[in-house]
Amino acid sequence: MHYLITGGAGFVGSHLGEELLQRGHHVAIIDDLSTGTIHNIRHLKTNPRFECVIDTCANRPLLAELVDGADVIFHMAAAVGVRLIVESPVRTIETNIKLTELVLEAASKKRKPVFVASTSECYGKSLEIPFREDQDLVLGPSSKGRWSYACSKLIDEFLAIAYYRERGLPTVVGRLFNTVGPRQTGQYGMVVPTFVKQALSGAPVTVFGDGQQSRCFTHVRDVVRALILLMDRADSYGEVFNIGNTEEVSIHGLAEQVVQRTQSTSPIVLVPYEKAYEPGFEDMPRRVPDIRKIQRLTGWTPTLGLSQILDDVIASFR
Ligand code: UDP
Repeated sequence: MHYLITGGAGFVGSHLGEELLQRGHHVAIIDDLSTGTIHNIRHLKTNPRFECVIDTCANRPLLAELVDGADVIFHMAAAVGVRLIVESPVRTIETNIKLTELVLEAASKKRKPVFVASTSECYGKSLEIPFREDQDLVLGPSSKGRWSYACSKLIDEFLAIAYYRERGLPTVVGRLFNTVGPRQTGQYGMVVPTFVKQALSGAPVTVFGDGQQSRCFTHVRDVVRALILLMDRADSYGEVFNIGNTEEVSIHGLAEQVVQRTQSTSPIVLVPYEKAYEPGFEDMPRRVPDIRKIQRLTGWTPTLGLSQILDDVIASFR
């Protein structure tokens, strides 16, 4: 099979490309290197089944040609990371909405199946735990920049579903829950690489708020398996799926585990949200996926727990 991955030099995209190549497929990626890096795909470049295009999906004729050569498209190109979103909301909103429009439009002309990467951020401040794909979403006001990310991704979801229902384009939406693993950068605020870097360098480990907020971290290797399973079957088309681990940890608990597993002497310090992000910043207290839908359909289940995730990330930074 021939796969096209937009954002293929990014964190998740590069792991997905690697897995597909390992399975004997052909992989083309397109990435503008805005948050992805050549370093993420350097080890794939010698593979004769790998094609790498450094450009933007906004280059319509080029995108059309790449779509033409693909059997399936994984649309992973997006602006991600809470810090990036808070600091550059225009870029986040425009990137996320425009690129998805262009990819779906190009795919629709050739009727090529598309996976659209979405996020658990869409559930917003909902307290209805665990989050189910068909539950109501609770977002904050538009005056708070963070929520623009969830809104932009929700537009992507609406578009993907609309293309399926109105135009018959096979589309699948996956809501990824805090995906982590080797090659993820802490540059855009993600907590696991940030904590690991801090602990390994002996710097204070910065827990935002009181650290009682919790997350479920999912190993990127589990995530890419889920994406491939979903695109391998037609009964996932037109549907939204949670993709995440159900093992919940508080952010303070995460900091303690990172310090312990790196045998670091770093202190754990609490940083108020307004200092970490912006005044009035709203966090999500908990975020736990209900994964029965993807399990029922594909049999997928996460296999790598938090300790394995941390060990892999720590090893990659060392
Ligand atoms: N966080 C933290 N210290 C950091 C970076 C993040 O305490 O240096 C917290 C953040 O406030 C959130 C959680 O860790 O509660 C996860 O943050 P991340 O940005 O990785 O993902 P999010 O779940 O917010 O999308």
